[in-house]
Amino acid sequence: MTLRFYGSPETLAEDLKAETERLESVFSVTRPDSDFARLNADGRIAPAPETRDLAEKALALARETDGALNIALYPLVKEWGFTTGQYQIPEPDRIRELLPLTDWHRITLSDSSLAIDPGMALDPGSLAKGYTADVLTARLKEAGVTCALLDLGGNIQAIGTRPDGTPWQVGIRDPEGEGHLGILSAADTAVVTSGGYERYFTGPDGQVYWHILDPLTGAPARSGLLSVTVVGPAGWRADGLSTALFVMGADKALTHWRETGGYELVLVTEDHEVIVTEGLADRFTLSEPDTYTLKVWKHD
Ligand code: AMP
Ligand code: MG
Repeated sequence: MTLRFYGSPETLAEDLKAETERLESVFSVTRPDSDFARLNADGRIAPAPETRDLAEKALALARETDGALNIALYPLVKEWGFTTGQYQIPEPDRIRELLPLTDWHRITLSDSSLAIDPGMALDPGSLAKGYTADVLTARLKEAGVTCALLDLGGNIQAIGTRPDGTPWQVGIRDPEGEGHLGILSAADTAVVTSGGYERYFTGPDGQVYWHILDPLTGAPARSGLLSVTVVGPAGWRADGLSTALFVMGADKALTHWRETGGYELVLVTEDHEVIVTEGLADRFTLSEPDTYTLKVWKHD
């Protein structure tokens, strides 16, 4: 995590670090005393205000994306070994056994309680970083900071512009290479990428298995996309949507973008197309034109 900001008291950096650690201790499923770890162990908790808020947002996105974003997938994420790094390809029977335990409709949220059915487990990893970036952004703005760039491991949040007034330059990772495949000019926005390349393993069959799962199959989502970058005002929404649209694939992503709006996209396909939505056409520069072809999506 890298936080860069200008023109603020030095103590602010410590405050932001403490706030990030506090949110991690509430959200992280792998910390035994976090809200989500306790929920997964006990089936019901009195959630911290942030947990309640995050769960509500995750459920709203689940409804909006027809369950492509599903924080109840955790039993399967664990089974594949993505939590521990002890990767394995589960038997089809095992996946069939676990799928009924991933029904997000069975999450119950009220003012004072968050509950799940026995055997279920939640993992807010698909949007918790974006949510955290939003909290940090609010803190920075309250402190009067007008120029900042936050990088929470691939989740970028640009506050204002660079100190010289020009937009921040954000590199979009080449999912198949080491560097970036393009540069995006960004000001006052979140830029969040989900990609198979972030966490994956190669099975004994030579196939690559990555950490974003299709809730319908319980296996890594193969939708023809290598990465999805969402550019939009709210970090949590950009984060959740980048995961969901990766699952949905280019055609459904296009439909969602046209019908819902409020954000822009950079999609990288297996066929080496880089698709950007209209609003980014003037703000995106392809740096690997020999490998990738640029295509622009319009609203109609
Ligand atoms: P992200 O890096 O934001 O795309 O989030 C991916 C992480 O969210 C994975 O490492 C899993 O822990 C979890 N996850 C995987 N597939 C899904 C999904 N379809 N919906 C919600 N969370 C998921
Ligand atoms: Mg995400």
